[in-house]
Amino acid sequence: MTIDKFNFAGKKAIVRVDFNVPLDENGKITDDTRIRGALPTLKKVLADGGSLIIMSHMGKPKGKVNAKYSLSQIVDAVSEKLGVPVQFASDCAKAGDAAAALKPGEVLLLENLRFYPEEEGKPVGIDKEDPAYEDAKKAMKASQKEFAKTLASYADCYINDAFGTAHRKHASTAVIADYFDADNKMLGYLMEKEVQAVDNILKDIKRPFTAIMGGSKVSTKIGIIENLMDKVDNLILCGGMTYTFAKAQGGKIGNSIVEDDKLDLALDIIAKAKAKGVNLVLGTDCVAADAFSNDAHTQVVPANNIPDGWEGLDAGPETHKAFAAAIEDAKTILWNGPAGVFEFDNFTAGSRAIAEAIAKATKNGAFSLIGGGDSVACINKFGMADQVSYISTGGGALLEAIEGKILPGVAAIKGE
Ligand code: AMP
Repeated sequence: MTIDKFNFAGKKAIVRVDFNVPLDENGKITDDTRIRGALPTLKKVLADGGSLIIMSHMGKPKGKVNAKYSLSQIVDAVSEKLGVPVQFASDCAKAGDAAAALKPGEVLLLENLRFYPEEEGKPVGIDKEDPAYEDAKKAMKASQKEFAKTLASYADCYINDAFGTAHRKHASTAVIADYFDADNKMLGYLMEKEVQAVDNILKDIKRPFTAIMGGSKVSTKIGIIENLMDKVDNLILCGGMTYTFAKAQGGKIGNSIVEDDKLDLALDIIAKAKAKGVNLVLGTDCVAADAFSNDAHTQVVPANNIPDGWEGLDAGPETHKAFAAAIEDAKTILWNGPAGVFEFDNFTAGSRAIAEAIAKATKNGAFSLIGGGDSVACINKFGMADQVSYISTGGGALLEAIEGKILPGVAAIKGE
């Protein structure tokens, strides 16, 4: 079923959202992006004349009640954004009566699902090495099903709109879907958009396709790099990874960040790109600094000839041109990870060159997807969020999807 086709009139919908919003020490929301992201779905249910049971996790309370992570702190904010009063169920597993009493247009927010270990379904208080661990795991899986069944019993239909947790097989993100037939479970609008964005770069690719992977390490991105290698025309590898590649090819990298145990892997990536006809773009020059600091002295040097005592913290001007050449004519673009230590204002130029080239390509009709923590922070820092096609809300979930993994939260509904 799709949310657009479903008529919620007179129905109770249980909706998994990602309201894991950051709070300050007084419990005030410091960034409400995630709440705003779920509004189209929540409003559609109410506009149709349905009632809402909203559920989410917050933080990592590890299966125990912890006031610091109570969703009671966001009731007023959710109510204000939805424009209706929001009731609160202080125990998510004992909300049957409150849910049954809901009338059309009414909203119930459940307490943090992760106050119950059943949500994540991992046995608590027992070590993986313990001989009793396997039995504890089985017992926990059984109680996870019961927990999911209880949540399902509150509603007539189920919507998953929490892309941020779609890569987890939790009670509320996947297991619960077993208790609804195909006509009564669906993805929310935010999930639909995220899934479509991933399809645009993995399935319905318009060429040329340029992927830009940055950040500090090759090791954390290798799954994605390998999956993309079969799909892209241009692959830009930048950021701290540059120096592992430079060293692997015999370069001098001074104090730059490097993964010495990944030198062979770097050579392997270079060879694979060649064999597959992928245009691999690696930094040729860099901005080297004499300390890991915004105020360090700097000089532009070749990325494979960095003086002793200096470290590459950003891409150099020649490299910016190579980035632009590989990005500007692209019709599909994925960007994950900065080209330098963008947190320091003096080392943002490489990431800015990427952002500007992406904006230009997007203006010329390319589909551009920005995702994964730091590149989103980058594009926001440059105030360019409205110049790209789509900014993903899901860090880990997006990266797993791009690696080609099936997301349990999506599979539970679409049956893929
Ligand atoms: P990741 O979490 O692997 O995506 O890496 C993001 C981090 O990589 C950011 O905090 C950047 O500051 C960092 N980074 C990017 N380029 C470099 C570099 N040349 N040296 C050290 N850190 C870098």
